[in-house]
Amino acid sequence: MIQRDVIVIGAGAAGLFCAAEAGKRGRSVEVLDHAKKVGRKILMSGGGRCNFTNMYASPENFLSQNPHFCKSALSRYTQWDFIALVSEYGIPYHEKTLGQLFCDESASDIVNMLMSECDKAGVTVTTRCEILGVEKLDAGYHLKTSLGDYQCESLVIATGGLSMPKLGATPFGYQIAKQFGLPVLPTRAGLVPFTLHDAQKQVLSELSGVAIDVSAACNDMAFKEAMLFTHRGLSGPSMLQISSYWHPGDTLSINTLPASDALAFIEEARKTSPDAQLSTCLAKLFPKRVVQTLIDFNAWPNKPVKQLTHSEVAGIAETLENWEIKPNGTEGYRTAEVTLGGVDTDALSSKTMMAKNVEGLYFIGEVVDVTGWLGGYNFQWAWSSGWAAGQVV
Ligand SMILES: Cc1cc2nc3c(=O)[nH]c(=O)nc-3n(C[C@H](O)[C@H](O)[C@H](O)COP(=O)(O)OP(=O)(O)OC[C@H]3O[C@@H](n4cnc5c(N)ncnc54)[C@H](O)[C@@H]3O)c2cc1C
Repeated sequence: MIQRDVIVIGAGAAGLFCAAEAGKRGRSVEVLDHAKKVGRKILMSGGGRCNFTNMYASPENFLSQNPHFCKSALSRYTQWDFIALVSEYGIPYHEKTLGQLFCDESASDIVNMLMSECDKAGVTVTTRCEILGVEKLDAGYHLKTSLGDYQCESLVIATGGLSMPKLGATPFGYQIAKQFGLPVLPTRAGLVPFTLHDAQKQVLSELSGVAIDVSAACNDMAFKEAMLFTHRGLSGPSMLQISSYWHPGDTLSINTLPASDALAFIEEARKTSPDAQLSTCLAKLFPKRVVQTLIDFNAWPNKPVKQLTHSEVAGIAETLENWEIKPNGTEGYRTAEVTLGGVDTDALSSKTMMAKNVEGLYFIGEVVDVTGWLGGYNFQWAWSSGWAAGQVV
């Protein structure tokens, strides 16, 4: 039997960070993970460069049934605190866009930093350890694992969400929550590409690999970023972002000209080049392949713009600014970056992340019903929630 003050299940972003914080307070801490390697999602993140935080992170960038829950942790351990740590380790980084900070070299810099923090704090990190059962004792917890039995005072669940099962994701955290009577809100894939119905897919897949700047809106939220056509459907940052606000059956509204007025553009073209075909005019705004597909997809009359009727002009302008697409679905957990929903924040203390009714049981990171936008926000939640628990476990 191994006795620890704190056991953290999950050696990902939140778990490793929390463990180091607890270790610094002199607690004896062990992190257990079933995977062969620690921090696999960190290593994969940001195309291998890890978008580790966002300079503009604030509670507005997170989805949760209770939008206030994340405020305390985010304000007590901020992006600037994490940036200071990254700088202390001399890890080179840069802002890519929109406040998103990436490693210059490799995401492994972040994993090495977390492991070094754990090492300095005397934390033991054990991989290839299956958790077979968790039982509550009068004071603390008993764990049965493939590597033997453990007992601890505080148990931290940092097993993340369901996205990318290939990287070791499991529903373990939700199962433990249910075992101890905590409500778990329905989960769904977030930051995920859309798939299209066959008819739409056939036409739009012609554009596979092409990206255009759009503003994508759904359910009172809009993101102005690139949209990428894929052979399965629609992706790119604007689509990933809006996917977190989309529910099956919802229609997306895509403004393909977020920076200009479509009606004014066509009217101007009718004055300055009345004999030009619609396709020639639109080629000033979009790549040629996109123009042809837009015309085919929407069955627009491709004739000299002077011959367009007022209602045709209005219809084309309306579609350019409000192109309605009803996705078939999303690519699901296989390619999703995050899982929406999870352990209901009503059952947790926003200050400590401890379950309100289960002494010594903590939930941090993505397993909790707090999900960030694309752009480094999800890691910031892992650091902030891990830090909050790390001060008290
Ligand atoms: C491809 C990809 C790219 C991403 N890029 C970014 C990015 O650039 N910026 C950003 O902010 N976010 C990004 N994210 C999201 C981010 O990776 C997660 O939100 C974050 O890792 C969550 O941290 P976590 O510690 O809660 O969970 P995780 O990092 O997922 O860690 C969970 C750990 O628990 C372990 N575990 C799971 N089940 C069990 C079990 N039953 N027993 C034992 N151990 C278990 C896993 O092996 C894993 O090590 C990306 C996600 C993906 C999939």
